Parts: sequence; structure tokens; C-alpha cells
Amino acid sequence: MNVGIPRETGAGERRVAVVPDSVRQLQKAGVSVLVESGAGAGATHPDRAYEEAGATIVPGAAALWSDSDAILKIQPPGPDGPGGRPEVEALREGSVLVCLLRPFSNLDLVRTLAARRITSFSMDLVPRTTRAQRMDALSSMATAAGYKAVLVAAASSPKFFPMFVTAAGTIAPSRVLVIGAGVAGLQAIATARRLGAVVEGYDIRPAVKEEVESLGATFVGPTLSPEEAQDAQGYAKPLSAEARVKAQDLLRARIPQADVIITTARVPGLPAPKLITAEDVRKMRPGSVIVDLAADMGGNCELTKQGAEIVVDGVTIHGPVRLAATLPVHASQMYSRNITAFFLLLVHEGALRLNFDDDIVRDTCVTHEGLVRHAPTAERLGAAAPAPSAP
Ligand code: NAD
Repeated sequence: MNVGIPRETGAGERRVAVVPDSVRQLQKAGVSVLVESGAGAGATHPDRAYEEAGATIVPGAAALWSDSDAILKIQPPGPDGPGGRPEVEALREGSVLVCLLRPFSNLDLVRTLAARRITSFSMDLVPRTTRAQRMDALSSMATAAGYKAVLVAAASSPKFFPMFVTAAGTIAPSRVLVIGAGVAGLQAIATARRLGAVVEGYDIRPAVKEEVESLGATFVGPTLSPEEAQDAQGYAKPLSAEARVKAQDLLRARIPQADVIITTARVPGLPAPKLITAEDVRKMRPGSVIVDLAADMGGNCELTKQGAEIVVDGVTIHGPVRLAATLPVHASQMYSRNITAFFLLLVHEGALRLNFDDDIVRDTCVTHEGLVRHAPTAERLGAAAPAPSAP
């Protein structure tokens, strides 16, 4: 079986799905690895390093896509494929695709994948279980983004982060408010603490209070019961009107105190909750900074412009979309370990063997044999999904 690693074509994408170390692991499992020439350059891995790890370098995208039985990628297939055609059309009919497919945001693509009988898996659907932890690409990318968000904020802020006691007087530390204490938010809290800021962490899930405090920050979330705030998987769920008012009032009191706000709040499958209104922004001090990590899902701040940096009444608002890609070396290393661990679940003695009784394989599969197997995606497409355990 040939496993292909294409060069990512999305704007600003410097990561690569598989780094040379993982090539060795894949080869050991009996598959041949093809790498498009230059695929690892943005993440500082030259073709030579892949060759030394046992991969074959393929000079152009056309040959890479057409010779691969499986494609391992980061971004979903984009519009700039070989020969000016969309990448999805370059996939061999009946082949395998593994990437961060985000099926809810790419319904047309899912339809095409099913029509072309591609067996596709979405790394963002890997269940958050202990066994799947090594494959948890969402956590890896959220770690990178949470860390970088603080560096973006610190570079953009006109203030120091730490307290300084100098001959010129004492400088007060910056106050950082992190909204949403999931993986990205906790990493942002840890990074802002390392830089010496005074940090508050806000979330609606009471379960995160201890984690926020263990990082040296103050928890400022509302007092809600776990049932009110989270679903069975531990993800946040939409709040009742009453709980929303309670949560919003509390947050509204914290926002004007902050020099920096890093916001990461998400509810799976839904637009990001709007937690910072235009009115809230007007109450912030000039020079304050917001980094909105939910920009790709519409933003937590009403004024966020996806992919842009804007200034409103002296407050800088960043809406980055691919922050993890700005740390291509470590983000690629982490993603590569995640996707390789996942892909090895699908392979036995160098050949594809799909075991849909395995919850990880079952939950991540989006399309197979012409059907949309992921039930929530099928529902959005208005199509019926097959029974979950059917092969
Ligand atoms: P996420 O990206 O879905 O959301 C980010 C954060 O936003 C969450 O903490 C969520 O509670 C918060 N949020 C949502 N709506 C909000 C609102 N209105 N106001 C304030 N905050 C709001 O989260 P994630 O980082 O992907 O983590 C989701 C869950 O998965 C967490 O329980 C996390 O601990 C868990 N998790 C488990 C594992 C594992 O066991 N392997 C790995 C990673 C994450």
C-alpha cells in the first residue's frame, strides 16, 4: 500500500502531516511512504530527511495523488490540486483520506467524497478517550494555538506582562482574562502565568475550576451544575436562558478589568458563543488586546474579523484562523504522531483492514463505500447514515 504525504496548499499552511520520524514507523508497519517534494520544507524537514527515513520523494502533486492508496493530510482537500483541479478530484476513486476534515463545515466536500467512494476519516472526530489520547490532534493543535495566542497578545500589547520593580518605580503586571478553559485556554493560562501576568480563567464548566487554579490563576466562572453546563462527553453545551444571563453578568464585570483577553469558547458543531459584545469592547481600556481563538467558528467577540487584526476604540482584536500553523515544527511533530498512531489502527501487515467495531475507527469515519457514515453529518446532509456497526 502506498501512503502519500502531499504538500499542504492552504494559505499560510507551513505544517506537514507526517514528519520523517513517523515515516520510519509507517514503513515498519509494512506500507510504502510517498512524499511530495518540498512537503516538509515549511516545517524544516528537507526531502533528504524523508529519504533517509525510507520514503520515496515524488516530484509533483499529480504523481503523488495518483500513486497513493491513502493520503494523510492536515487540511481538508482544497481547491488548488494538481493540474489546477480541486484536490478531491485528484484522490484515487476508492482510496483512503485522513485529515482534519471538519465535516460540518465542509458538507459539499463530504458529498463529493461519498460520490467518489473515498473512505475518509476526520482527525477532529477522534473520541476524547484515554485509548485515543495519542491520536488527539485537536488537543495538539489547541495546545499550540493557546500558547501562541498569548505571544501574539504580548507582542501586540503596549504593556509589560510581568511585574517589574525598578529604579524608575514599580510596574504593575498585566491582567489577562482567559475565556474558555479547555485545552487551548489552559495552555494560554499556563503561558500567560509563565510570562508573569495575573491571570483569571473563566468557563461555564465547573469541572475546570481546579485545573485553572492549579496553574496559578483565579477561576471566575459562574456556579452552574455539571448537568447545566456540559454534555455526557464533557463538552460544553448551550446554556438555558437563565444560566446564560448569570454567566454573562459575571463575565461582563471581568472584561473591563483585563489588559488582555484570550478567548477560546466553543460548543461542538455550533457557531462560537458570542461572549464579548461591541459594548463590552468599548468599556475596555485603550491599548487592551483581544485574541479570539474561536474566530474560525464566527468568534467569541462580536467585532472579531476572521483572519484579521482590527483596532476598535483603541482595543486591538485579533481573529487568527491557523495559529498552530505558525509553529510548524512542533505542530507538525505532534500532528504527525497523532495521525500515524491513528493510521496504524487501519493497517494490518501492510494492507488496509477496517474494523468498524473499534470505536475510534467507527467514530472518525465520515464516508465509506459511497455512504456518509458519520450520523450527525449525514443528518445535516439530509441523508440517512448506515447503522453504526455495519462494515
Ligand atoms: P472546546 O474547544 O470544545 O471548548 C473550549 C472551552 O470553551 C471549553 O472548556 C468549554 O467549556 C468552553 N466554553 C464553551 N461555551 C462557553 C461559554 N458560553 N462560556 C465560557 N466557556 C465556554 O474544548 P476542548 O479543549 O476541546 O475540551 C473539551 C472537553 O474535552 C474538556 O472537557 C476537556 O477536558 C476534554 N478533553 C479530554 C481529553 C481526554 O480525555 N483525552 C482530551 C482533551 C480534552
